[in-house]
Amino acid sequence: MSTNIFPDRDTFLERPAKEALLKQKGLVIWFTGLSASGKSTLAIALERKLYAEGILTQVLDGDKIRNGLNNKLGFSAEDRNENIRRIAEVGKLFSDCGVVAISAFISPTNAIRRMARDIIGEENFFEIYVSTSLEVCEQRDPKGLYKKAREGVIKNFTGIDAPYEASDHASLVIDTSVYPVEEASELIFGKIMPMIKKV
Ligand code: ADP
Repeated sequence: MSTNIFPDRDTFLERPAKEALLKQKGLVIWFTGLSASGKSTLAIALERKLYAEGILTQVLDGDKIRNGLNNKLGFSAEDRNENIRRIAEVGKLFSDCGVVAISAFISPTNAIRRMARDIIGEENFFEIYVSTSLEVCEQRDPKGLYKKAREGVIKNFTGIDAPYEASDHASLVIDTSVYPVEEASELIFGKIMPMIKKV
């Protein structure tokens, strides 16, 4: 006798059922850029805009994830890779559930971003390159990290003694020294809303 007597109940619910429930499409919005370029600030502003439109989101932010899920990972090339791999897998879980995941990590190389895109799937991945220059980021230095990196207190700091590769695959490029937060988030909102509301 088959043990699978309730086949309908034994399969996982498919993504479209969850998207229909939420009345939105799942998506991963992937911010990349230097520290202090404005990734988190834009992620927060965007999340509030989406919330106001009834869209369910989850922000995956560098500090939040590094203090929790990835608290044992450092900043060597290997650990950066593992950090991004796990974030991409988490982003995929959210988008598979119909939620809009907004990730804000430096993700410094095209290879590392490609890995994230391959995990999440091209059609679910919207990359935004926050292209604010190193000079501006270093001037802002909201957490004093650039100063510490220049003094050698922090090693392997992106832009100082670790590389950042400009994105070759971004759907949108935003320099936050040109666009104020409100304008930048409005621009992103206008691009992604049609992707989220296709249900
Ligand atoms: P990241 O997440 O890329 O490290 P943050 O968003 O934490 O960057 O920091 C960006 C800093 O730049 C914040 O202090 C923010 O207030 C400031 N800032 C100034 N203008 C802008 C802008 N137009 N967009 C985003 N951030 C801005």
